[in-house]
Amino acid sequence: MLLFTPGPTPVPQNVRNAMADETMHHRTPEFEAIFEKTREHLFELFTTDEVVMIASSGTGAMEAAVINLCHNTLLNVNSGKFGERFGKIAKAHGLGSVEIKNEWDTPVSVEAVVEAVKANADIDAIAVQISESAGGLRHPVEELAKAIKEINPEIMIIADGITAVGVERIDVTHIDCLIAGSQKALMLPPGLAILGLSNVAIEKIGEGRGYYLNLASEIKKQRQNTTAYTAATTLIIGLLEVLETIKNEGGFGVLYCNTARRAKATRAALEAIGLHSYPKAPAKSMTTIDDKDASKIRSALKEEYGVNVAGGQDHLKGKIFRINQMGLIAPYESIWVVNAIELILHRMGRLEYTGLASKVYNETYFKTALEKKEI
Ligand SMILES: *Cc1c(COP(=O)(O)O)cnc(C)c1O
Repeated sequence: MLLFTPGPTPVPQNVRNAMADETMHHRTPEFEAIFEKTREHLFELFTTDEVVMIASSGTGAMEAAVINLCHNTLLNVNSGKFGERFGKIAKAHGLGSVEIKNEWDTPVSVEAVVEAVKANADIDAIAVQISESAGGLRHPVEELAKAIKEINPEIMIIADGITAVGVERIDVTHIDCLIAGSQKALMLPPGLAILGLSNVAIEKIGEGRGYYLNLASEIKKQRQNTTAYTAATTLIIGLLEVLETIKNEGGFGVLYCNTARRAKATRAALEAIGLHSYPKAPAKSMTTIDDKDASKIRSALKEEYGVNVAGGQDHLKGKIFRINQMGLIAPYESIWVVNAIELILHRMGRLEYTGLASKVYNETYFKTALEKKEI
């Protein structure tokens, strides 16, 4: 089965092998050396002033960011399930909560965020997804962060990059906290989350808040290449292998470029056979198609072509399907997917099969590759 869901993503064989070794004790020089190397690669990936790894799914890092960086009122952008979650976290901790809600295909407008901040002096942190996975949407986070910092540099910008870190280069100049999760673009099993932090964020964290998710205790320990509590040793060993594999395959720049190419080629191929891209601003992490036959296409992909893609949740259940673009994916696998979709549409009587989807995919992907064009 080809796993083409936008998280979890397939774990490469060499990474699975690296994680299959004997369990290592976390308080040993051997593990600390692995931790140190992993941290070095993470600094390069995140380009933030500090990085912290915690043993939790992505939501644990979202919660850590909110409780440590928001002391009064959180403004969250809700254009989908994950954006909504930030508001729920704020409420669960008794923090003030203001929400900007949009349909799941609609990116937040920078003006709306600026207005909300001007209208409510209690807002001391903003939480937003870079890529909102519910609808495959890209929010203008960098622009938004810049605009807010011009108004008040003390307002913390929390950027959920769980489906963005490892997908594209993110300008963190105005971002205080950038979050990643192991099972998305980092090609690992679930259970490890990473936060990149700015110096301004570290200042605000101070002594930290919470207990397990207290970022001050983690920063202190992780600067010494250890963790406050038992480290997720196996996942960190896997993460080091993933990051070294990316390096060996040309580095982060090549990964971003190939991901962008696949996303562009998949979308062009599917639009060429009459399908519609759902988000008004598509993220590069996944290709999201809305279609009346979304459910049928999804099950035919699974049952007849061995391809597992994701559907939609809540009001988009049965109305969309999402094809992963994150990680190291061979283009021939993507070509298989778009070709299978064209064959499925043929059998539904919606078009005459000509091989157009794979042709357009190949042209779009390989032309830019031949021209060595950066996209
Ligand atoms: C998957 C995901 C999360 C949540 O991560 P969990 O690991 O399920 O806790 C948060 N934000 C985005 C954008 C995601 O795609």
